Amino acid sequence: MQEKIIVIGAGLCGSLLALRMAQRGYAVVVYERRSDMRQKSVAAGRSINLALSDRGLRSLAMAGVDQDILPLVIPMHGRMLHPLEGDNSLVPYSGRQGEYINSVSRGGLNRVLLEKAEETGQVTYYFDTACIHADLEVGTVYLKNQKTGEEFHDSAEVILGTDGAYSSLRNVFLKDSARYRFDFSIQYLQTGYKELEIPPAPGGGFRIEKNALHIWPRKGFMLIALPNLDGSFTVTLFLAMAGDGESFARLNTDDDIVTFFEKYFPTALLHMPDIVADFRQNPTSSLGTVKCFPWQMNGRFLLMGDAAHAVVPFYGQGMNASFEDVRVLNDLLDQYGDDWPQVLQAYQDLRKKDGDAIGDLAMDNELEMKSATADPVFLLKRKIELALEQSYPEYYSKYSLVTFNDDIPYHQAMKQGRDQDVLLMEYARKAEHWENVELEYVVKLLNDKGFLKRAITS
Ligand code: FAD
Repeated sequence: MQEKIIVIGAGLCGSLLALRMAQRGYAVVVYERRSDMRQKSVAAGRSINLALSDRGLRSLAMAGVDQDILPLVIPMHGRMLHPLEGDNSLVPYSGRQGEYINSVSRGGLNRVLLEKAEETGQVTYYFDTACIHADLEVGTVYLKNQKTGEEFHDSAEVILGTDGAYSSLRNVFLKDSARYRFDFSIQYLQTGYKELEIPPAPGGGFRIEKNALHIWPRKGFMLIALPNLDGSFTVTLFLAMAGDGESFARLNTDDDIVTFFEKYFPTALLHMPDIVADFRQNPTSSLGTVKCFPWQMNGRFLLMGDAAHAVVPFYGQGMNASFEDVRVLNDLLDQYGDDWPQVLQAYQDLRKKDGDAIGDLAMDNELEMKSATADPVFLLKRKIELALEQSYPEYYSKYSLVTFNDDIPYHQAMKQGRDQDVLLMEYARKAEHWENVELEYVVKLLNDKGFLKRAITS
């Protein structure tokens, strides 16, 4: 008889996981709290999108579905910066050819993964079914049908929790935290977010540059926009929830909303005819970083994706990291076979430091996106990095190490990237202008510190 695996949550991580486990020959049962998104439009028809990059693509390729996803993406070659005054500038993500990130619809991607997993004939979905509890000793999960209220349970040798940032399975670990020595933290940002929209141009097409991730940085808050295939852009406002400065709490009346956008984002407002309705209709949500340990329990339960390591969205890596989780688990199954207790232990040993690192990197990037992109020293540093990447193939910026080098674990990319950043920011501060920059001298500085060797050890 085929070994059975239970997956809790059919979001991005859970659906790729179900697909891969089915391809490996397991009988996979998936419980998902929401309805089947293939049968109704997601999030009231809004096109919510994400940045997909090399780590995510590599994991999709592992499951043989990258070619199904590529037609759904729009390449974004750099950040298009929209200052309050002066001209826009496109700052490439890399000085190398072919290194860019991709905008993809969350719903579109999730649907393809659900479909591909189902096509294996090895996956059974139970939608509208929430996990409400688990018995960690015997490998049983307790479930509730959201429509009928019926409660039931199911058991398996292996239960994989991919039920997102507010994981029900993680809550079971937490309820008995003394017994399981379960360490948990959620660090909330004072910044929240709201998704808005730039619609397609009249008659179709894109109102602003299609192949870029747009940022309107305003020191302490910002607006960003990612393109969708239909010509629209999903716009996200990141702003303090409350407090002394500008905040969501101060945007109460229609006038408040329009005045705020006129003052800080006039060039974006030009393209947002429905700003007031959009603002009122769409929720304001919080952002936080989840860290916890252990991720595996009793050799049969494992937390993966956001359930194990939810991160703030500023590196565009949460989904990519969650997809990479599936690849790492797959590689360990290759290594250890079906010895699940050993696989889960090895997974936790290998992956925990990377989950922590991407959480920390994402926090670094919050500052970079909101403020540093408007700082001349930072912009000079980026210009130096791009020139280095063009002329010295051995040099990789922190962004490049994290985003385009899927063979380097996040924790190593973070260490090398942060050290390089300190050195280059110091140099850019002293140089002040591009005319004063001596690239060969910068290369010598980097080389002296060993930063031109890409694969450092931890
Ligand atoms: P989810 O995608 O959240 O899926 C969890 C699933 O579990 C859901 O389907 C949910 O309904 C289900 N579920 C929940 N509770 C239960 C239960 N009790 N029982 C059964 N099912 C349950 N990442 C990137 O890589 N690039 C980006 O550009 C990016 N942008 C982002 C922008 C924003 C504003 C946010 C908030 C996140 C962004 N992310 C991005 C992060 C990314 O969305 C997550 O990392 C990713 O969705 C994690 O996948 P997951 O499957 O672990 O969780």
